[in-house]
Amino acid sequence: MATVAGVDIGGTNISVALVDDEHQVGDRHKRSTPTDGPDAVLEVVAELLGELDEEPAAVGVGMPGPVDDGVVSHPPNLQNWPEPVDVGGRLSEAVAMPVAVGNDANVGVLGEWVAGAGRGSKFLLGVWMGTGVGGGLVLDGRPYTGSVGGAGEFGHMIVHAGGAQCGCGRRGCIEAYGGRANMERAAERAAAGGFPTTLFEIRDDKGKDRLTSSVWDRALDQGDKLAVRLFNEAVEAVAIGIASVINLLDVDRIVLGGGLAEKLGDDLAEQVEEAARPHVFLPSAKRQIVLAELEDDAGMVGAAALGRAAMLLG
Ligand SMILES: [Zn+2]
Repeated sequence: MATVAGVDIGGTNISVALVDDEHQVGDRHKRSTPTDGPDAVLEVVAELLGELDEEPAAVGVGMPGPVDDGVVSHPPNLQNWPEPVDVGGRLSEAVAMPVAVGNDANVGVLGEWVAGAGRGSKFLLGVWMGTGVGGGLVLDGRPYTGSVGGAGEFGHMIVHAGGAQCGCGRRGCIEAYGGRANMERAAERAAAGGFPTTLFEIRDDKGKDRLTSSVWDRALDQGDKLAVRLFNEAVEAVAIGIASVINLLDVDRIVLGGGLAEKLGDDLAEQVEEAARPHVFLPSAKRQIVLAELEDDAGMVGAAALGRAAMLLG
């Protein structure tokens, strides 16, 4: 039995854990993500790996941003990272063990596939609804990352050509409607235009500085009209995207995760399923839309699975 380390590098925190070959998470450590560039980030990862109570046989890393053969370019949530960096090569040299690197959304889906709500699926789409909207794919029983590591960018599928502005610089992406950051901007604009809403009172009441998932949850519970409208637009955009993926790839399961999905739970899965149904070309009773199970651990579990596969493949 070999224990592998899973590393989840996010914009706020870096989390590292030991994961055994049953995908169970053991000793774990966490530190704030440095903002002064790749050297500092890699140093913290190496330090956290050194703090684990057992030396892992390999390391898997989930990184925000496109990853191609271990090289990470332009991670949107990591600061001072202007050039592509060979994270796999540099980390492997620093810690003297095999290192595999994947995109965080893809790696999270991998985690749900090996140990969570995606278990047993052969054609899986994972959708992460958080600040942004991410995704990942397993096709014919293998994780699928595309020709240059760009597959699974579910949030940037276009649902309205020329539509709402997305953070990626394009228009009409799913994330422009279904990402929490964009939903917040839309709510601010509507409120500034005089649309009545309790969203910002709930935010202040909860002592938050953003419209977090729990703020949306409460506003929706209270039937706040603006929250309901923006949430329905988000569901519609995500559902159209899911239906399009089904029509192209005939996936058998869709796992919905991320902060918003966790907060809204089964309601969200049902609403997305209902909104997707009219757009699906070939319906199947076997196809399911389910909620993710591993929460924040999906990234570390998936990263460890990636590291384990790299180790086994040599
Ligand atoms: Zn976009």
